[in-house]
Amino acid sequence: MTFSLHPSYDDPRTAELVGRLRDYLGGELADYEREHGLTDSSRLTRADLEPVWRRSIELGFYGIHLPKEHGGQDLTFSQLAALKEELGASGRVLSHSVLGDMGGPLRAGDILKHATQHQLDTYLLPLIRGERACCFSLTETDAGSDVRSMRTVAVPDGDGYRLTGHKVFSSAGPFADFAIVVARMAGTGEAEGDKPSFSAFLVDLDSPGCRVEDGVTPMSGEHIESDIVLDDCYVPAANLMGAEGDGMRIALGRVTTNRLLHCPTILGLTRRALDLTLQRARTRKVAGGRPLISLQAIQHKLAGMATDFYAARSMTYAALKALDEGRDVRTEAFMCKLFVAESCFRILDEAVQIHGKEGLTQGNEVEFMFRKVRMFRVLTGTSEIQRNGIAKMLAAGA
Ligand SMILES: Cc1cc2nc3c(=O)[nH]c(=O)nc-3n(C[C@H](O)[C@H](O)[C@H](O)COP(=O)(O)OP(=O)(O)OC[C@H]3O[C@@H](n4cnc5c(N)ncnc54)[C@H](O)[C@@H]3O)c2cc1C
Repeated sequence: MTFSLHPSYDDPRTAELVGRLRDYLGGELADYEREHGLTDSSRLTRADLEPVWRRSIELGFYGIHLPKEHGGQDLTFSQLAALKEELGASGRVLSHSVLGDMGGPLRAGDILKHATQHQLDTYLLPLIRGERACCFSLTETDAGSDVRSMRTVAVPDGDGYRLTGHKVFSSAGPFADFAIVVARMAGTGEAEGDKPSFSAFLVDLDSPGCRVEDGVTPMSGEHIESDIVLDDCYVPAANLMGAEGDGMRIALGRVTTNRLLHCPTILGLTRRALDLTLQRARTRKVAGGRPLISLQAIQHKLAGMATDFYAARSMTYAALKALDEGRDVRTEAFMCKLFVAESCFRILDEAVQIHGKEGLTQGNEVEFMFRKVRMFRVLTGTSEIQRNGIAKMLAAGA
């Protein structure tokens, strides 16, 4: 892999898809956002997203990673990553709605393979068709990294369950029709030393006893997460995913893959920040009318940023290639998530520095990207949890 801020791909299929996606993001989608006045600080609604889902389905992008039987193109992880990188690099507010990250097939992840025919027909196939959307609800106020300490409980009741609990930070919650909720089975994990058993449920968000609430606003300023409040909410047994006790296996089943697949979006965003910073350094004049980029202090910053970016991108695609070959990449996935999060944050910090006051000004894209990338050191597993994972693999002789 060579260094480039405008990567090209040898694989003809990837090259064709990336080319078409770039055209869509920079053309039609940019026009759509402009016409609707959508910016980083807009409060998006489902009505903003739905036309993008529909158009992305027509263009074959929505759920493109899925097997052909579900309307996808059976992409490899490396091919999907190349597309996700383009989303990140596009600067488009609605880029998350093109491949199905925001409530669509990418958010549902691996659960397709655990679904019964009823669950496929009622929830997951409509999701692939862009008719329904979902969120994934695991985290609670007092259960983040240590998700097993969750309090949401499922009590068996006749031919179903009653769920009570409060989930926070469910991404895509404001646009979703149903949530994949993980809850502890009542009667397990209550006594000292008793192991809790967790189950995963498909919960219609308009069910009696279920409320979708505005949660806190993260530092990115986006309103794309919700709290899901369950108060004795009845869920039919047909909505239990897998068997009772399978909840964590289903929820965390593809965690290695997901960890890796989050990296290219952040890499794309960082690539854009680096590009914008180079442009700024070339055009901003300093003392004596010289461009900023003529100063060695700035050149060294740019060199460090580009080197960090090349390292982060190279290791991510190397791990994705190994994953495509069916190899065990658990250690590499921890390493990529850690290094991408940490190095992209360093790059964005320098990007803000080089932009000076512009980089601190709301409305400036780099200022927004800095806040967005900062969150990645916590999201989808904190840097400390990645380090724990690497150390554990090393101790086990990986
Ligand atoms: C914008 C956003 C979107 C999100 N989307 C979703 C979503 O869609 N669905 C969902 O279920 N959740 C979601 N989350 C939750 C996210 O996954 C959690 O925030 C994350 O898992 C960390 O949990 P926490 O924030 O409670 O941190 P904590 O677990 O409280 O950790 C606090 C600090 O302690 C450190 N720490 C904790 N345990 C250890 C340990 N064992 N060893 C070393 N250090 C440790 C952490 O690394 C961190 O630095 C989202 C969060 C945000 C901010």
